[in-house]
Amino acid sequence: MNVSVPFLDMKAPHQELAAELDTAYHRVLDAGWFILGEEVDAFEAEFANYVGVKHCVGVGNGLEALHLILRAYGIGPGDEVIVPSNTYIATWLAVSYAGATPVPVEPDPKTYNLDPANLAAAITPRTKAVLPVHLYGQPADMDAIVEIAHQHGLKVIEDAAQAHGARYRGRQAGGLGDAAGFSFYPGKNLGALGDAGAVTTNDEALADKVRLLRNYGSRVKYHNEVKGFNSRLDPLQAAFLRVKLRHLDEWNERRRQVARRYLAAWQGIPGLILPFVSAFAEPAWHLFVVRHPQRDALQKHLREADIGTLIHYPIPPHLSEAYQEMNFQPGTFPLAEEFAASLLSLPIGPHLTEPEQSAVIESVCQFF
Ligand SMILES: *Cc1c(COP(=O)(O)O)cnc(C)c1O
Repeated sequence: MNVSVPFLDMKAPHQELAAELDTAYHRVLDAGWFILGEEVDAFEAEFANYVGVKHCVGVGNGLEALHLILRAYGIGPGDEVIVPSNTYIATWLAVSYAGATPVPVEPDPKTYNLDPANLAAAITPRTKAVLPVHLYGQPADMDAIVEIAHQHGLKVIEDAAQAHGARYRGRQAGGLGDAAGFSFYPGKNLGALGDAGAVTTNDEALADKVRLLRNYGSRVKYHNEVKGFNSRLDPLQAAFLRVKLRHLDEWNERRRQVARRYLAAWQGIPGLILPFVSAFAEPAWHLFVVRHPQRDALQKHLREADIGTLIHYPIPPHLSEAYQEMNFQPGTFPLAEEFAASLLSLPIGPHLTEPEQSAVIESVCQFF
């Protein structure tokens, strides 16, 4: 019997919560208030509490969360921000939006996360911040990163877009640096029903500045203190996120169970490199990413078995057309390039059924 497995099921999670989402929708409709307001305030308080930080500021999306943090710290033209060479391009774009220059460093090849050992060497007198990403939901080695960064007077801004509920030495991602940007893009562990994002921080002045920047630079309507942006969290999305936040830990636990099954089933397959979980890490398992030199053949084999896979990410930012002007040649960041050619993301999620999990497990085993 052939079980077809989509890479990501966007229907089942919302069917499970249909009644609660319906109630949330009607609450917003009845309130008749559609920009910022109580629903956004309530989500901000609940998410700050979840992450364990003093402040949360809801914004339009994850890219804007990072961009507004950089702006609020006064980072701009002439400044450098250290970023991973192997990340989603949004991490780099946030730096570019602020007018600063992204300075890539290579990852730890075991965890795919920013390697603290490469950090110090990339710091120059122009460096203002470092932007580690908790890639695939695995927390980066934040104590080491924060220590080096703070020795050099740099801000540490977490890209927590893939790490809702991930823990580092028992502490939640999003509260491990000076500030963090979250995305609630629908496919993330905590996803809205459209675009949404948030900034989390313990830094009151930073939270205040981001609040100003997200809303046209004004605290009082029509009094514009700075040239701000329009990047506000939508109250309808805030209402949906409040529902889904209540299920995040349970859904992350289901992801963990799938990851455990996969790890147990595939350990010992020669040449197949499985995700490495550091002793300090409790991953959120946003993605389950394996590595193999015959990645394309493995992907084809799975496609023929009706199993959806994706590549995160096929082109590293430094080789993308968007960053042509920086003139990076192939070979500049060999690890990022090797990973782009050999990584494969397999289906994982809270609604992946046991037969679906078994189909993925068997199909991968068949290939070897
Ligand atoms: C999803 C994502 C973002 C951007 O989030 P959007 O809400 O789509 O703007 C940024 N960084 C990483 C690592 C992401 O995965």
